[in-house]
Amino acid sequence: MSNGLPDPIIQVVKESGPVRVHTFISPEALLSNATHVIEGPNELVIVDGQFVAPLASAFRAYADGLGKPINRAYLSHEHPDHFFGLSAAFSDVPIYALPETIAFLKANGEAIRADRAQVYGPMVPSSIVVPTHPVTAGREVIDGITFDLVVQKHAEVETQLAIGLPELDVYITQDLLYSGGHLYIHKGTEESWTAALEQLKASDYDLFLPGHGTPCGKDEIQANIDYLQKAKKIAAESPNMEAYKAALLAAFPNRKAPAIIDIYAPALFA
Ligand SMILES: [Zn+2]
Repeated sequence: MSNGLPDPIIQVVKESGPVRVHTFISPEALLSNATHVIEGPNELVIVDGQFVAPLASAFRAYADGLGKPINRAYLSHEHPDHFFGLSAAFSDVPIYALPETIAFLKANGEAIRADRAQVYGPMVPSSIVVPTHPVTAGREVIDGITFDLVVQKHAEVETQLAIGLPELDVYITQDLLYSGGHLYIHKGTEESWTAALEQLKASDYDLFLPGHGTPCGKDEIQANIDYLQKAKKIAAESPNMEAYKAALLAAFPNRKAPAIIDIYAPALFA
């Protein structure tokens, strides 16, 4: 693809009559950000928008290639690896998010953008689009497809949106779940996050679409629970961030995208 970046992974993960669920995943070097298109008979719904601008544009081109209008985009939470791409390539689309996410972006979105732009230049959007459509937990039907909007607190982030598609047996967890990669951990959230994952594991769903990595099953939910518990123990035993990272990498040598540890670990040891 352009800008010398490796190709994304693109999969149709579910097909049922005229309905298809597509997943578009960035290269591992760019955190394996997973964004999704729910394609109905007449319209598309987007979930999250990629991190860097070139991949956001590639994701938009893929969605446009399906030849149907975009009804809306849902933003799952306030982290830039999810909202930057909506700003970069979906500014013409109605963007829906939880009120807490909207408030955070209003207060902090531009400062985060300006800060990252100093380091990453044209990978970062030139302005921030703040979602204007607040959502609450509950059921929406869009183009004949049922969307169960679920609010999760105190997990990967203070407030995040997950979306169940009950007719399709697909649960879009976004960053409640990291498939195959290292998790992004805020201090003190391990137990509440684990509780959220236990709920997912007890659900009737079988296919889960994470915010990072490829679609997965309940074995990966258990792997995330195990990871959180181990990371909590390692954090308690580590004198500093370097020791923490080394121990985490030794405990989970096969998990991908370790760069995410460098992003969150300073706050764990601040
Ligand atoms: Zn993320």
